[in-house]
Parts: sequence; structure tokens; C-alpha cells
Amino acid sequence: MNVILLGAPGAGKGTQASKIAEKYNLLHISTGDIFRANIKGGTEIGKLAKSFIDAGKLVPDEVTCAIVKDRLTWEDAQNGYMLDGFPRNLFQAEELEKFAKIDICLNIDVDEALLMDRICGRRVCKCGESYHVSTLNGETKCRKCGGELYQREDDNPQTVKARLITYNTQTAPLIDYYKKQGKLATVTSGEGSPDEVFEQIVEILDK
Ligand code: AMP
Repeated sequence: MNVILLGAPGAGKGTQASKIAEKYNLLHISTGDIFRANIKGGTEIGKLAKSFIDAGKLVPDEVTCAIVKDRLTWEDAQNGYMLDGFPRNLFQAEELEKFAKIDICLNIDVDEALLMDRICGRRVCKCGESYHVSTLNGETKCRKCGGELYQREDDNPQTVKARLITYNTQTAPLIDYYKKQGKLATVTSGEGSPDEVFEQIVEILDK
């Protein structure tokens, strides 16, 4: 099964993607994580991506599509994968069709008014876990692995505003794109707890 996870920044894609990947034994591919690893490693891709990420804009399509196209040829992607954060515009979606067969696109629907607080209050761990400050009670370490929690550089109000505009203008049209293909499943419980959202996703995927 090859799945796309769609949703605005802060909709909970990363959290759900890890849970889905684990339960259904799918490879979790996050283009955002790939870019962040490249930035950390000081690669050419990382240097290019950083300026776009800091501005809340999309990294150029040629670079992003080439990364995903290559990643999908690896051995570990042959038994199904979960794309988290890709495609993010129509061009990427059309490119993806040339090298992948997507079974379902899950769209996590969350009221836009909640997103700013969710993202700016987010604290993440290098192991992939993420938390909201309101539930951390001052804790600074990851409950899963003990790692130090930190705030992503692009999780600040100014960049988030730009990311939401990017989402609304470039990514949201994909909802209709996958609806027309009969592949869209809307997760309506997006404002609920991670467990509630996951429960609905499991219901959808088990069908
Ligand atoms: P994410 O971790 O998915 O929130 O992505 C963080 C940032 O990485 C985004 O705001 C974009 O700047 C960049 N990015 C991630 N995925 C893509 C993509 N499919 N196309 C272009 N840029 C991307």
C-alpha cells in the first residue's frame, strides 16, 4: 500500500505518519526530514533548501522530485510507503504519477485557527517524537528516548504565516486533485487527540 498524507502545517502529519508506518509496516518518507538531515549534514541540497525553508516557501520542484524519485527506488520502499509532506503542489503530484502508484491520499482536516498555536508550541525530538508545550509541564526531555527537546527553526510566527499561505495557495488544491481521482479520504477528526485521529485513520485504511 502506497499512501500520501496531506494536511496543513500543524495538522499532525508527522505524528500520524510514524504511527501509520509502524502499524502497516510502511516506509515513512518525510521530505521535510530529508531536507533537515541535509541541512545538518551541510550538503549542497541542505544549503539550497535552508533559504526556502526559512522563508516558509517550497524547495524547488526539480530538487524535491528528484529526491523522492530516487528514494522510492530503494529496496526498503518496495513493500509500501507513506509520503509525508510530498507532493506539495500540482506539479509534484503530476510528476509523482510518472514514477509511483498511489493507492490512497489521507487528508487530515484541521481548523486553520488552531494551526498557529499548534506549530509555535511544538517541541520536537531528534527521534521524531513531537509534543506541545501545553502538555509538557516544563519537561525538556523526550518521553520516548530521553533526547533533548527543541523547537524547529521554522516553527516561529513569521515563518508559519508564510507556510500557511504556501499551503493554502499551492498544496490545498491537491485535495480536489485526489478527490477527482477517487483516492481521497478525509480525516475529519484532525482536531482531536493523536489517538482519536489515528483511530479514524485505521478505520479508513482497514477498509
Ligand atoms: P515539513 O517538515 O513537512 O513541515 O517541511 C518543512 C519545510 O521543508 C517546508 O516548509 C518546505 O520549505 C520544505 N519542504 C518539505 N517538503 C517539501 C516538498 N514536497 N516540496 C517543497 N518543499 C518541501
